Amino acid sequence: MESRKSDLVIIGAGLTGLTLAYLLRAQNLTVSILEARGRLGGRILTAYQDGTAPIEMGATWLGSKHTQLNALLQELGIETFEQVLGQKAIYEPISTSPHQLVTLPPNNEPSYRIKGGSSALIQQLAARIKPDQIHLNQIVESIQSVGDKLQVKSNDVVFEAPLVVSTLPPHLLLARIKVEPALPADLTQLMKQTHTWMGESIKVGLRFSTPFWRKGHSSGTIFSNVGPIPEMYDHADFEDQFYALKGFLNGAYFSMTKADRLNLILMQLRKYYGKEVEQFLDYQEAVWRKESFTYTPYEGHVLPHQNNGHSLYQAPYVDGKLFIAGAETASQFPGYMEGAVRSAQHIIQQIQGWQPMA
Ligand SMILES: Cc1cc2nc3c(=O)[nH]c(=O)nc-3n(C[C@H](O)[C@H](O)[C@H](O)COP(=O)(O)OP(=O)(O)OC[C@H]3O[C@@H](n4cnc5c(N)ncnc54)[C@H](O)[C@@H]3O)c2cc1C
Repeated sequence: MESRKSDLVIIGAGLTGLTLAYLLRAQNLTVSILEARGRLGGRILTAYQDGTAPIEMGATWLGSKHTQLNALLQELGIETFEQVLGQKAIYEPISTSPHQLVTLPPNNEPSYRIKGGSSALIQQLAARIKPDQIHLNQIVESIQSVGDKLQVKSNDVVFEAPLVVSTLPPHLLLARIKVEPALPADLTQLMKQTHTWMGESIKVGLRFSTPFWRKGHSSGTIFSNVGPIPEMYDHADFEDQFYALKGFLNGAYFSMTKADRLNLILMQLRKYYGKEVEQFLDYQEAVWRKESFTYTPYEGHVLPHQNNGHSLYQAPYVDGKLFIAGAETASQFPGYMEGAVRSAQHIIQQIQGWQPMA
C-alpha cells in the first residue's frame, strides 16, 4: 500500500475540513485532506444546471447571529440574500379541512441564502487551498497510533501525520473508522448518542420557468401538517431570473422510489396550485439517510441535536494527536454551518504555535 507523510491530516472535505485548511493556508505545514466522496462539500450540496435556479440539496439558510460564517463569507467575497417568504403562506392544519392562505407575522429574524448557491462557499474555500492537498475518493477506515505519529488508512493509501483532525459527524466516525488505541468508553458512549444534524432529512426541489405561485391568491411558502411536504419555499436565484420551489419531504419516505416520491409531491402541490405544477422543468432530491458518508443508523432513539457541542469533544485524544471536529462538536451553533466554521476555528486555537518536529 502506498504511504504518504504530512504534518496534518484532515479527514473530510466538508465545510469544517475546508475552513480548517483555509485557515492554515499561510502556515508552513503540509496538510492532506482526505475525502471519501468524489466531490467536496459534504452536507453542502447545490444542484446546478445551466440556465436554471441552483437548488440546495443540503445547507441553505443562515442568520445574522451566525457571525463567524458571515465573516467568512465576507472575507471570501460571497454575498447573501434574504429568503423570499412573501406576505402570505399556504397553511394546511389538518387533512379534513382545506388549506388556507394565511398572513405571515412580521419576520424580525430573516433567513439568508448564499448568492450562487451554498456550494459557492465550498468552491471559494477550495480555490484558496493548494489543489494537491485535497484527496478525493479516500474512504478512511482506520486511525492507528504508531510511535509519535498516527497512521490513517484509507481504501488505498496510508497517510502518516503527527496530528489528525476528523471532521466526520461523531456518530459516523465511531461507526466507520477504527481507532487504535480505542477511544475512552465515556467518549464512545457519547458518540453513539450524538445526533448528526439533518441526517434523516429529504430535500426536494422543482424548477419552473415562471414563479406562478407569486401571482394572485397564492404563495410559494407552504406549511403543512398533512404533508408529505411539511415546509416549502420560493427558491428563485439571487438575480430572480430562474425559479424553483424547494422544501423538505417527510423523512419517512426514504425507502420509496424517486418516481413515487415525485408523485406524492405533485399530488400535494396540485391541491394548492392546480395543474400548473405539472409544468415543472425538472425534479431534484437528496435522501440524506441513504448517504453512507453522512448517515448511519443509531442503536437507540436519538433526539435532534442530542449531545451536540458536548464538552468531551473540546479536547484531543490519543495522546493529543487526534482531534474530533465537525459541526456537531461546536460548543455554539452545533450542527449548523456556523458550527462547522467555529469548529475549524477551535482546532486552530488548540494547535496554535504547534510545529511539526524536524
Ligand atoms: C438537508 C440538510 C439541510 C441543512 N440545512 C442547513 C441550513 O439551512 N443551515 C445550516 O447552517 N446548516 C444546515 N445543514 C447542516 C450543514 O450542512 C452542516 O452543519 C455542515 O455542512 C457540516 O459540515 P461538516 O464539514 O462539519 O460536516 P460534513 O459536511 O458532514 O463533512 C464531513 C465530510 O467527511 C466525509 N467523510 C465521511 N466519511 C468519511 C470517511 N470514512 N473517510 C473520509 N471522509 C469521510 C464526508 O463525505 C463529508 O464530506 C443542513 C444539512 C443537511 C443535510
